[in-house]
Amino acid sequence: MPESLPADLVDLRDRLRAFIEEMRTIEGDLETIEGEEEAGVPVDVRARVRERSKALGFFGMTQPAEFGGTDAGALAMTVARETLAAANTPLSRYVFGPDPGLLRRAEGGLRERYLEPVLAGEKTWSFAFTEPSGPNAPERPTWAVRDGDDLVVTGRKAFITGGASADFYAALVNVDEDASGPGGTAMLLIDRDTPGVEITRRFRSMEGGGHVELSFEGARVPAANVLGKIGEGMPRAMGNIGEERLMSAATACGIALWTVDYTTRHITGGHRSGQRLGDREGVRLRYSDMRIETYAARAMLYRTARLVDAGEDAINEGAATKVYCTEVAGRVVDSAVQLVGGQALIEGHPLEHLYRRVRSMRLAGGASDVLRLTVARGIIEFDAGRL
Ligand SMILES: Cc1cc2nc3c(=O)[nH]c(=O)nc-3n(C[C@H](O)[C@H](O)[C@H](O)COP(=O)(O)OP(=O)(O)OC[C@H]3O[C@@H](n4cnc5c(N)ncnc54)[C@H](O)[C@@H]3O)c2cc1C
Repeated sequence: MPESLPADLVDLRDRLRAFIEEMRTIEGDLETIEGEEEAGVPVDVRARVRERSKALGFFGMTQPAEFGGTDAGALAMTVARETLAAANTPLSRYVFGPDPGLLRRAEGGLRERYLEPVLAGEKTWSFAFTEPSGPNAPERPTWAVRDGDDLVVTGRKAFITGGASADFYAALVNVDEDASGPGGTAMLLIDRDTPGVEITRRFRSMEGGGHVELSFEGARVPAANVLGKIGEGMPRAMGNIGEERLMSAATACGIALWTVDYTTRHITGGHRSGQRLGDREGVRLRYSDMRIETYAARAMLYRTARLVDAGEDAINEGAATKVYCTEVAGRVVDSAVQLVGGQALIEGHPLEHLYRRVRSMRLAGGASDVLRLTVARGIIEFDAGRL
Protein backbone atom coordinates (compact mmCIF):
# COMPACT_ATOMS: atom_id res chain seq x y z
CA MET A 1 0.00 0.00 0.00
CA PRO A 2 1.15 3.60 -0.58
CA GLU A 3 1.69 4.50 3.05
CA SER A 4 4.83 2.35 3.83
CA LEU A 5 4.68 3.33 7.48
CA PRO A 6 7.40 3.10 10.12
CA ALA A 7 6.74 0.66 12.97
CA ASP A 8 5.43 3.28 15.43
CA LEU A 9 2.77 4.44 12.97
CA VAL A 10 1.76 0.90 12.08
CA ASP A 11 1.30 0.46 15.82
CA LEU A 12 -0.76 3.69 16.01
CA ARG A 13 -3.01 2.44 13.22
CA ASP A 14 -3.44 -0.96 14.84
CA ARG A 15 -4.28 0.57 18.22
CA LEU A 16 -6.80 2.90 16.60
CA ARG A 17 -8.43 0.00 14.79
CA ALA A 18 -8.71 -1.85 18.09
CA PHE A 19 -10.22 1.27 19.66
CA ILE A 20 -12.74 1.50 16.82
CA GLU A 21 -13.85 -2.06 17.55
CA GLU A 22 -14.17 -1.11 21.20
CA MET A 23 -16.17 2.00 20.26
CA ARG A 24 -18.60 -0.18 18.38
CA THR A 25 -19.26 -2.14 21.55
CA ILE A 26 -19.44 1.09 23.62
CA GLU A 27 -22.31 2.20 21.44
CA GLY A 28 -23.81 -1.25 21.50
CA ASP A 29 -25.95 -1.01 18.39
CA LEU A 30 -23.82 1.02 16.04
CA GLU A 31 -25.52 -0.22 12.89
CA THR A 32 -28.52 1.94 13.66
CA ILE A 33 -26.45 5.12 13.67
CA GLU A 34 -23.68 4.25 11.24
CA GLY A 35 -23.10 7.19 8.97
CA GLU A 36 -25.52 9.39 10.87
CA GLU A 37 -24.89 12.91 12.01
CA GLU A 38 -23.79 14.04 15.43
CA ALA A 39 -27.38 14.44 16.60
CA GLY A 40 -27.71 10.64 16.57
CA VAL A 41 -24.98 10.10 19.18
CA PRO A 42 -26.15 10.22 22.81
CA VAL A 43 -24.22 12.60 25.08
CA ASP A 44 -23.12 9.85 27.47
CA VAL A 45 -21.71 7.83 24.55
CA ARG A 46 -19.67 10.85 23.42
CA ALA A 47 -18.30 11.26 26.95
CA ARG A 48 -17.34 7.60 27.15
CA VAL A 49 -15.50 7.74 23.84
CA ARG A 50 -13.57 10.81 25.05
CA GLU A 51 -12.63 9.15 28.33
CA ARG A 52 -11.39 5.98 26.64
CA SER A 53 -9.53 8.03 24.04
CA LYS A 54 -7.75 9.92 26.83
CA ALA A 55 -6.86 6.67 28.58
CA LEU A 56 -5.49 5.21 25.35
CA GLY A 57 -3.45 8.32 24.48
CA PHE A 58 -5.29 9.46 21.33
CA PHE A 59 -7.10 12.47 22.75
CA GLY A 60 -3.98 14.66 23.04
CA MET A 61 -2.70 14.05 19.50
CA THR A 62 -4.11 17.35 18.25
CA GLN A 63 -2.85 19.30 21.28
CA PRO A 64 0.48 21.05 21.93
CA ALA A 65 2.95 19.19 24.17
CA GLU A 66 3.17 22.16 26.57
CA PHE A 67 -0.51 21.62 27.35
CA GLY A 68 -0.11 17.92 28.01
CA GLY A 69 -0.80 16.81 24.45
CA THR A 70 1.44 14.76 22.20
CA ASP A 71 1.35 17.19 19.27
CA ALA A 72 1.37 14.47 16.62
CA GLY A 73 2.99 15.34 13.29
CA ALA A 74 1.34 15.48 9.87
CA LEU A 75 2.01 11.85 8.98
CA ALA A 76 0.73 10.54 12.32
CA MET A 77 -2.42 12.70 12.05
CA THR A 78 -2.89 11.52 8.47
CA VAL A 79 -2.76 7.89 9.59
CA ALA A 80 -5.15 8.62 12.45
CA ARG A 81 -7.71 10.62 10.47
CA GLU A 82 -7.68 8.19 7.56
CA THR A 83 -8.05 5.17 9.84
CA LEU A 84 -10.97 6.77 11.70
CA ALA A 85 -12.71 7.84 8.49
CA ALA A 86 -12.26 4.34 7.07
CA ALA A 87 -14.30 3.05 10.04
CA ASN A 88 -17.23 5.27 9.03
CA THR A 89 -18.48 5.74 12.55
CA PRO A 90 -19.91 9.01 13.88
CA LEU A 91 -18.14 8.28 17.17
CA SER A 92 -14.77 9.07 15.63
CA ARG A 93 -15.40 12.81 15.94
CA TYR A 94 -15.03 12.50 19.74
CA VAL A 95 -11.64 10.80 19.67
CA PHE A 96 -9.44 13.91 19.54
CA GLY A 97 -9.30 16.80 21.98
CA PRO A 98 -9.95 20.41 20.94
CA ASP A 99 -7.58 21.44 18.18
CA PRO A 100 -6.02 24.87 18.81
CA GLY A 101 -5.78 25.58 15.04
CA LEU A 102 -4.71 29.16 14.47
CA LEU A 103 -4.95 29.92 18.21
CA ARG A 104 -1.81 27.84 18.67
CA ARG A 105 0.37 30.93 18.36
CA ALA A 106 -1.72 33.10 20.69
CA GLU A 107 0.40 34.98 23.21
CA GLY A 108 0.00 36.95 26.44
CA GLY A 109 -3.59 37.72 27.41
CA LEU A 110 -4.98 35.95 24.33
CA ARG A 111 -3.31 32.77 25.43
CA GLU A 112 -4.94 32.93 28.86
CA ARG A 113 -8.36 34.12 27.76
CA TYR A 114 -8.76 32.06 24.58
CA LEU A 115 -6.17 29.33 23.91
CA GLU A 116 -6.03 27.82 27.39
CA PRO A 117 -9.82 27.61 27.92
CA VAL A 118 -10.19 26.05 24.43
CA LEU A 119 -7.63 23.36 25.17
CA ALA A 120 -9.23 22.72 28.56
CA GLY A 121 -12.59 22.19 26.83
CA GLU A 122 -14.08 25.23 28.63
CA LYS A 123 -14.61 27.37 25.52
CA THR A 124 -15.31 26.66 21.87
CA TRP A 125 -14.56 28.82 18.86
CA SER A 126 -15.39 29.04 15.17
CA PHE A 127 -13.54 30.24 12.12
CA ALA A 128 -15.25 33.23 10.46
CA PHE A 129 -13.63 33.68 7.07
CA THR A 130 -16.11 33.31 4.23
CA GLU A 131 -17.85 36.49 3.09
CA PRO A 132 -21.35 36.53 1.61
CA SER A 133 -21.54 36.24 -2.18
CA GLY A 134 -24.27 36.74 -4.76
CA PRO A 135 -26.55 39.68 -5.55
CA ASN A 136 -26.92 40.82 -1.92
CA ALA A 137 -23.24 40.67 -1.06
CA PRO A 138 -21.90 43.76 0.75
CA GLU A 139 -19.79 46.17 -1.25
CA ARG A 140 -16.68 45.46 0.76
CA PRO A 141 -15.52 42.54 2.88
CA THR A 142 -15.70 42.82 6.68
CA TRP A 143 -13.60 45.78 7.78
CA ALA A 144 -12.44 47.53 10.95
CA VAL A 145 -11.39 51.05 11.86
CA ARG A 146 -9.20 52.00 14.82
CA ASP A 147 -10.80 53.95 17.64
CA GLY A 148 -8.49 54.44 20.61
CA ASP A 149 -7.54 50.99 21.89
CA ASP A 150 -10.35 49.33 19.99
CA LEU A 151 -11.15 48.12 16.50
CA VAL A 152 -14.71 48.83 15.37
CA VAL A 153 -15.88 46.04 13.07
CA THR A 154 -18.55 46.20 10.36
CA GLY A 155 -19.60 43.54 7.86
CA ARG A 156 -20.97 40.02 7.49
CA LYS A 157 -19.68 36.48 7.50
CA ALA A 158 -21.65 33.89 5.61
CA PHE A 159 -20.76 30.37 6.69
CA ILE A 160 -19.50 29.67 10.19
CA THR A 161 -19.52 26.06 11.32
CA GLY A 162 -20.50 25.62 14.97
CA GLY A 163 -21.08 29.38 15.22
CA ALA A 164 -24.34 29.12 17.18
CA SER A 165 -22.67 27.69 20.27
CA ALA A 166 -19.14 29.09 19.85
CA ASP A 167 -17.96 31.35 22.67
CA PHE A 168 -15.90 33.40 20.25
CA TYR A 169 -14.99 33.76 16.60
CA ALA A 170 -11.61 34.03 14.90
CA ALA A 171 -12.67 36.47 12.17
CA LEU A 172 -10.68 37.73 9.23
CA VAL A 173 -11.14 41.53 9.02
CA ASN A 174 -9.57 44.22 6.86
CA VAL A 175 -8.23 47.05 9.00
CA ASP A 176 -8.28 50.48 7.36
CA GLU A 177 -5.03 52.38 7.24
CA ASP A 178 -5.08 55.69 9.18
CA ALA A 179 -2.75 58.21 10.81
CA SER A 180 -2.09 55.88 13.76
CA GLY A 181 -1.03 52.84 11.78
CA PRO A 182 -0.96 50.78 8.61
CA GLY A 183 -3.89 48.78 7.29
CA GLY A 184 -4.14 45.15 6.27
CA THR A 185 -5.85 41.89 7.11
CA ALA A 186 -6.08 40.85 10.75
CA MET A 187 -7.26 37.71 12.52
CA LEU A 188 -9.39 39.14 15.28
CA LEU A 189 -10.86 37.20 18.22
CA ILE A 190 -14.41 38.42 18.78
CA ASP A 191 -16.56 37.23 21.70
CA ARG A 192 -20.01 36.07 20.64
CA ASP A 193 -21.69 38.31 23.22
CA THR A 194 -19.96 41.49 22.02
CA PRO A 195 -22.58 44.24 21.42
CA GLY A 196 -23.01 44.66 17.67
CA VAL A 197 -22.38 40.96 16.91
CA GLU A 198 -25.54 39.21 15.78
CA ILE A 199 -26.32 35.74 14.48
CA THR A 200 -28.58 36.60 11.55
CA ARG A 201 -29.23 33.08 10.26
CA ARG A 202 -28.87 29.48 11.44
CA PHE A 203 -28.77 26.72 8.86
CA ARG A 204 -27.66 23.17 8.16
CA SER A 205 -25.70 21.96 5.16
CA MET A 206 -26.46 18.74 3.32
CA GLU A 207 -23.88 16.61 5.17
CA GLY A 208 -25.47 17.51 8.49
CA GLY A 209 -23.22 20.30 9.79
CA GLY A 210 -24.74 23.26 11.66
CA HIS A 211 -23.65 26.79 10.69
CA VAL A 212 -24.54 30.45 11.15
CA GLU A 213 -24.33 33.73 9.31
CA LEU A 214 -23.05 36.67 11.38
CA SER A 215 -23.33 40.41 11.13
CA PHE A 216 -21.06 42.98 12.75
CA GLU A 217 -22.61 46.41 13.19
CA GLY A 218 -19.95 48.63 14.71
CA ALA A 219 -18.82 45.83 17.05
CA ARG A 220 -16.14 47.24 19.35
CA VAL A 221 -13.30 44.76 20.01
CA PRO A 222 -10.01 45.49 21.83
CA ALA A 223 -7.18 45.86 19.29
CA ALA A 224 -5.23 43.58 21.65
CA ASN A 225 -7.49 40.76 20.38
CA VAL A 226 -5.61 40.68 17.06
CA LEU A 227 -3.70 37.41 16.73
CA GLY A 228 -0.19 38.50 15.84
CA LYS A 229 -0.14 41.80 13.96
CA ILE A 230 -2.33 43.74 11.60
CA GLY A 231 -1.28 42.61 8.12
CA GLU A 232 -0.80 38.98 9.19
CA GLY A 233 -4.47 37.98 9.03
CA MET A 234 -4.52 36.27 5.65
CA PRO A 235 -1.24 34.32 6.10
CA ARG A 236 -2.45 33.10 9.50
CA ALA A 237 -5.80 32.07 8.07
CA MET A 238 -4.08 30.29 5.21
CA GLY A 239 -1.65 28.54 7.58
CA ASN A 240 -4.61 27.13 9.46
CA ILE A 241 -6.43 26.17 6.28
CA GLY A 242 -3.25 24.42 5.06
CA GLU A 243 -3.40 21.97 7.98
CA GLU A 244 -7.12 21.57 7.51
CA ARG A 245 -6.65 20.69 3.84
CA LEU A 246 -4.38 17.76 4.62
CA MET A 247 -6.79 16.49 7.25
CA SER A 248 -9.68 16.84 4.87
CA ALA A 249 -7.71 14.84 2.27
CA ALA A 250 -6.97 12.14 4.87
CA THR A 251 -10.66 11.94 5.76
CA ALA A 252 -11.57 11.75 2.06
CA CYS A 253 -9.14 8.84 1.56
CA GLY A 254 -10.58 7.05 4.61
CA ILE A 255 -14.07 7.45 3.17
CA ALA A 256 -12.85 6.09 -0.18
CA LEU A 257 -11.30 3.07 1.59
CA TRP A 258 -14.51 2.31 3.48
CA THR A 259 -16.52 2.68 0.28
CA VAL A 260 -14.27 0.40 -1.79
CA ASP A 261 -14.45 -2.21 0.95
CA TYR A 262 -18.24 -1.94 1.15
CA THR A 263 -18.50 -2.22 -2.64
CA THR A 264 -16.25 -5.29 -2.68
CA ARG A 265 -18.58 -7.04 -0.25
CA HIS A 266 -21.61 -5.97 -2.27
CA ILE A 267 -20.41 -7.11 -5.68
CA THR A 268 -19.00 -10.39 -4.40
CA GLY A 269 -22.16 -11.22 -2.47
CA GLY A 270 -25.28 -12.68 -3.99
CA HIS A 271 -27.46 -10.93 -6.56
CA ARG A 272 -31.03 -11.70 -7.59
CA SER A 273 -29.84 -12.55 -11.12
CA GLY A 274 -28.07 -15.57 -9.70
CA GLN A 275 -24.76 -14.23 -10.94
CA ARG A 276 -22.53 -12.08 -8.72
CA LEU A 277 -22.33 -8.47 -9.89
CA GLY A 278 -18.55 -8.72 -9.58
CA ASP A 279 -18.50 -11.43 -12.26
CA ARG A 280 -19.67 -8.97 -14.91
CA GLU A 281 -16.92 -7.27 -16.87
CA GLY A 282 -18.61 -3.86 -16.94
CA VAL A 283 -18.91 -3.88 -13.14
CA ARG A 284 -15.25 -4.90 -12.81
CA LEU A 285 -14.12 -1.98 -14.95
CA ARG A 286 -15.97 0.51 -12.77
CA TYR A 287 -14.80 -1.21 -9.60
CA SER A 288 -11.16 -1.17 -10.76
CA ASP A 289 -11.34 2.55 -11.36
CA MET A 290 -12.50 3.00 -7.77
CA ARG A 291 -9.47 1.08 -6.53
CA ILE A 292 -7.01 2.76 -8.91
CA GLU A 293 -8.13 6.25 -7.97
CA THR A 294 -8.11 5.47 -4.25
CA TYR A 295 -4.59 4.12 -4.54
CA ALA A 296 -3.40 7.23 -6.41
CA ALA A 297 -5.09 9.58 -3.93
CA ARG A 298 -3.51 7.80 -0.98
CA ALA A 299 -0.07 7.89 -2.60
CA MET A 300 -0.43 11.64 -2.96
CA LEU A 301 -1.75 12.05 0.58
CA TYR A 302 1.12 10.19 2.22
CA ARG A 303 3.76 11.91 0.12
CA THR A 304 2.42 15.34 1.04
CA ALA A 305 2.22 14.47 4.74
CA ARG A 306 5.87 13.45 4.64
CA LEU A 307 6.84 16.73 2.95
CA VAL A 308 5.05 18.66 5.70
CA ASP A 309 6.83 16.67 8.42
CA ALA A 310 10.14 17.31 6.70
CA GLY A 311 9.48 21.04 7.13
CA GLU A 312 9.21 21.66 3.39
CA ASP A 313 7.06 24.32 1.80
CA ALA A 314 4.12 22.13 0.76
CA ILE A 315 1.42 24.73 0.07
CA ASN A 316 1.01 23.68 -3.55
CA GLU A 317 1.07 19.98 -2.71
CA GLY A 318 -1.43 20.49 0.12
CA ALA A 319 -3.85 22.34 -2.14
CA ALA A 320 -3.46 19.73 -4.90
CA THR A 321 -3.91 16.88 -2.43
CA LYS A 322 -7.09 18.37 -0.99
CA VAL A 323 -8.54 18.85 -4.48
CA TYR A 324 -7.59 15.40 -5.72
CA CYS A 325 -8.49 13.33 -2.66
CA THR A 326 -11.88 14.98 -2.12
CA GLU A 327 -12.72 14.67 -5.82
CA VAL A 328 -11.66 11.00 -5.85
CA ALA A 329 -13.81 10.36 -2.77
CA GLY A 330 -16.70 12.00 -4.63
CA ARG A 331 -16.27 9.76 -7.67
CA VAL A 332 -15.73 6.61 -5.61
CA VAL A 333 -18.87 7.16 -3.54
CA ASP A 334 -20.83 8.03 -6.67
CA SER A 335 -19.70 4.79 -8.36
CA ALA A 336 -20.57 2.81 -5.25
CA VAL A 337 -24.08 4.27 -5.22
CA GLN A 338 -24.45 3.24 -8.86
CA LEU A 339 -23.23 -0.31 -8.25
CA VAL A 340 -25.29 -0.84 -5.12
CA GLY A 341 -28.38 0.55 -6.79
CA GLY A 342 -31.55 2.08 -5.37
CA GLN A 343 -30.93 0.77 -1.84
CA ALA A 344 -27.99 3.16 -1.55
CA LEU A 345 -30.30 6.15 -1.94
CA ILE A 346 -32.60 5.28 0.92
CA GLU A 347 -32.28 7.79 3.75
CA GLY A 348 -30.11 6.34 6.48
CA HIS A 349 -28.07 4.11 4.15
CA PRO A 350 -24.37 4.74 4.82
CA LEU A 351 -23.71 5.56 1.15
CA GLU A 352 -26.56 8.05 1.10
CA HIS A 353 -24.91 9.88 3.99
CA LEU A 354 -21.42 9.65 2.49
CA TYR A 355 -22.71 10.98 -0.83
CA ARG A 356 -23.84 14.15 0.90
CA ARG A 357 -20.70 14.33 3.00
CA VAL A 358 -18.17 14.05 0.19
CA ARG A 359 -20.04 16.63 -1.85
CA SER A 360 -19.52 19.30 0.77
CA MET A 361 -15.81 18.48 1.05
CA ARG A 362 -15.15 20.01 -2.36
CA LEU A 363 -16.21 23.40 -0.97
CA ALA A 364 -15.40 23.35 2.76
CA GLY A 365 -11.83 24.50 3.35
CA GLY A 366 -11.53 25.94 -0.16
CA ALA A 367 -13.44 25.37 -3.38
CA SER A 368 -11.70 22.92 -5.73
CA ASP A 369 -11.35 25.40 -8.59
CA VAL A 370 -10.01 28.13 -6.32
CA LEU A 371 -7.38 25.69 -5.02
CA ARG A 372 -6.49 24.82 -8.61
CA LEU A 373 -5.71 28.51 -9.05
CA THR A 374 -3.47 28.35 -5.97
CA VAL A 375 -1.54 25.54 -7.60
CA ALA A 376 -1.16 27.42 -10.88
CA ARG A 377 -0.12 30.62 -9.09
CA GLY A 378 2.42 28.71 -7.00
CA ILE A 379 4.07 27.45 -10.15
CA ILE A 380 3.69 30.38 -12.54
CA GLU A 381 4.24 33.29 -10.14
CA PHE A 382 6.30 31.79 -7.30
CA ASP A 383 8.12 28.97 -9.05
CA ALA A 384 7.36 26.88 -5.96
CA GLY A 385 6.41 23.29 -5.36
CA ARG A 386 7.12 20.00 -7.02
CA LEU A 387 3.97 19.31 -9.00
C1 LIG B 1 -19.64 22.13 5.21
C2 LIG B 1 -19.02 23.49 5.08
C3 LIG B 1 -18.44 24.08 6.19
C4 LIG B 1 -17.90 25.36 6.09
N1 LIG B 1 -17.37 25.94 7.23
C5 LIG B 1 -16.86 27.19 7.16
C6 LIG B 1 -16.36 27.83 8.35
O1 LIG B 1 -16.38 27.29 9.46
N2 LIG B 1 -15.87 29.09 8.24
C7 LIG B 1 -15.84 29.74 7.04
O2 LIG B 1 -15.37 30.89 7.01
N3 LIG B 1 -16.32 29.17 5.90
C8 LIG B 1 -16.84 27.92 5.94
N4 LIG B 1 -17.37 27.32 4.81
C9 LIG B 1 -17.43 28.08 3.56
C10 LIG B 1 -16.43 27.60 2.54
O3 LIG B 1 -15.11 27.91 2.97
C11 LIG B 1 -16.80 28.29 1.22
O4 LIG B 1 -18.08 27.80 0.81
C12 LIG B 1 -15.79 28.02 0.13
O5 LIG B 1 -14.54 28.58 0.46
C13 LIG B 1 -16.26 28.63 -1.21
O6 LIG B 1 -16.58 29.99 -1.04
P1 LIG B 1 -18.01 30.53 -1.45
O7 LIG B 1 -19.06 29.61 -0.94
O8 LIG B 1 -18.06 31.96 -1.03
O9 LIG B 1 -18.07 30.42 -3.01
P2 LIG B 1 -17.35 31.36 -4.09
O10 LIG B 1 -16.03 31.84 -3.59
O11 LIG B 1 -18.34 32.36 -4.55
O12 LIG B 1 -17.08 30.32 -5.22
C14 LIG B 1 -18.14 29.61 -5.86
C15 LIG B 1 -17.57 28.96 -7.09
O13 LIG B 1 -17.17 29.94 -8.03
C16 LIG B 1 -16.03 29.52 -8.70
N5 LIG B 1 -14.95 30.48 -8.43
C17 LIG B 1 -14.86 31.33 -7.39
N6 LIG B 1 -13.76 32.09 -7.50
C18 LIG B 1 -13.15 31.70 -8.63
C19 LIG B 1 -11.99 32.12 -9.28
N7 LIG B 1 -11.20 33.07 -8.79
N8 LIG B 1 -11.68 31.52 -10.48
C20 LIG B 1 -12.44 30.51 -10.97
N9 LIG B 1 -13.55 30.08 -10.38
C21 LIG B 1 -13.91 30.67 -9.23
C22 LIG B 1 -15.67 28.11 -8.20
O14 LIG B 1 -16.27 27.15 -9.04
C23 LIG B 1 -16.33 28.11 -6.85
O15 LIG B 1 -16.65 26.79 -6.43
C24 LIG B 1 -17.90 26.05 4.87
C25 LIG B 1 -18.48 25.44 3.73
C26 LIG B 1 -19.03 24.18 3.83
C27 LIG B 1 -19.65 23.56 2.61
